[in-house]
Amino acid sequence: MRSHERSRAIFAQAQGLMPGGVNSPVRAFRAVGGDPVVMALGRGAHVWDADGNEYIDYVGSWGPLILGHAHPSVVQILQKAAERGASFGALTELEVEMARLVCDAVPSIEAVRFVNSGTEATMSALRVARAFTGRDKILKFEGCYHGHVDALLAKAGSGVATLGLPDSAGVPVAATADTLLAPYNDGDAVRAIFAERGDEIAAVIIEPVAANMGVVPPRPRFLQELRAITEQAGALLIFDEVITGFRLAPGGAQMYYGVLPDLTCLGKIIGGGLPVGAYGGRADVMALVAPSGPVYQAGTLSGNPMAMAAGIVTLRILQNEGVYRGLDAMGAELAGRLREAAVQAEAAVSVTQVGSLLTVFFCAEAPADYDGAKRADAGRYAKFFSSMLEAGVYLPPSQYEAWFLSLAHQQRDIDATVEAARAAFAASR
Ligand code: PMP
Repeated sequence: MRSHERSRAIFAQAQGLMPGGVNSPVRAFRAVGGDPVVMALGRGAHVWDADGNEYIDYVGSWGPLILGHAHPSVVQILQKAAERGASFGALTELEVEMARLVCDAVPSIEAVRFVNSGTEATMSALRVARAFTGRDKILKFEGCYHGHVDALLAKAGSGVATLGLPDSAGVPVAATADTLLAPYNDGDAVRAIFAERGDEIAAVIIEPVAANMGVVPPRPRFLQELRAITEQAGALLIFDEVITGFRLAPGGAQMYYGVLPDLTCLGKIIGGGLPVGAYGGRADVMALVAPSGPVYQAGTLSGNPMAMAAGIVTLRILQNEGVYRGLDAMGAELAGRLREAAVQAEAAVSVTQVGSLLTVFFCAEAPADYDGAKRADAGRYAKFFSSMLEAGVYLPPSQYEAWFLSLAHQQRDIDATVEAARAAFAASR
């Protein structure tokens, strides 16, 4: 058995100082039981905890680390950027370079504004969409996560057109009163909502590949349908590509699936591991953002030179030939071999995968929406997770999160992961 003595001691202290001992809830391991391992070091696709245990990492800081941990080029540029000054609160050339990289890569982004998190990106995108259309209502999908914005913390009510109810204490009912919900992958539900109140809807916001209820890919033509419905109703289509941006393709899911939204939210990869977010899109919509227009949005650390520097290096490396083909192939191989291992262990499991994102669902049928995802057996996932951890594989500590592959994962990591999974599937039954 691996020792977790130091992790335990540090977590015990943390619990007296921070709510639940963490700065973001899922890190506390409540969904899988046991104390969290406290991380101390990352190199490439591997991490080491405070007790010196080594793991193959499939969390990758929840997506940003597509190059792996402590990539030498990122480390080097961060050192340089720190020496020049960590923040100015004034325009720097780095922001211009970063904006150009994003506008050139993402087909629908003509102008972009950098912020500090994905949450800020979605919050601000909603504001500008409401200003542009002069409408208040937003349609989101059950099981999609867009950060902890009040208006977007609404989950499934009963019935497709049910007005959203807050999903968190402290969110006033009024804050979600303009939030409409539909099941993911259900074009008919969206059409029905638009038939009833299309002229009140400012925007539809969606994760073009849902990755926050586990990975749930869009059905063929679902995104095209959303494009057509919103266009006809004069509503904006917002793709939340905080996870999928620069992960599925240089132009994100919109390039991968060939559907262009009006606005796009970005985060994670574009900061190379530093805090960042961005929203951008049609020039006529973005022109409403202050100071060029009346929609207020600002940030002390927005466009931070260190985050821009790490992002620029990351995006440049992702421009190398064959990067995404390699990630797709690795994702497909890992998913395929996990499916085989589950069959051999007679474990009822479905593996969803798009590019370098995947989820092992502990249910026989791959979910197409939130109700389907909720049918997965989180208890069995917890057992699987613990076995994998003990075998040296660090997975997301929740059934409802994506596994993230990186360019640093090697064939031997995939082989070792599949070997560990054989035993873990058997232990999970
Ligand atoms: N949108 C999506 C699709 C996300 O996955 C997340 C975070 N995982 C967010 C928004 C919020 O980003 P942040 O945590 O940086 O606020």
